[in-house]
Amino acid sequence: MQIRCYRCGANLTLGKEEVAFALQALEESGGTHYDARCHRCRHTNKVPLEQLRRIAPAAAGKPEEPEKPEEPPQDPEGKNGS
Ligand SMILES: [Zn+2]
Repeated sequence: MQIRCYRCGANLTLGKEEVAFALQALEESGGTHYDARCHRCRHTNKVPLEQLRRIAPAAAGKPEEPEKPEEPPQDPEGKNGS
């Protein structure tokens, strides 16, 4: 994910692993936001936990669900004959 530094406007990139780690740490500590340090100005940007969850649903510790083949919708009325 990409966030923008609130102070200097630099683009900060959070890797998938970093987001997953942040989520885990926050859940363990009961925190509400992750501190993303700007590489340019060292300002700490607070990223809300909810935002982390939204951008990394797969990284939230959920096992990946196997893909189910979708069945074609049934046509109860039938299109043949009126
Ligand atoms: Zn910055």
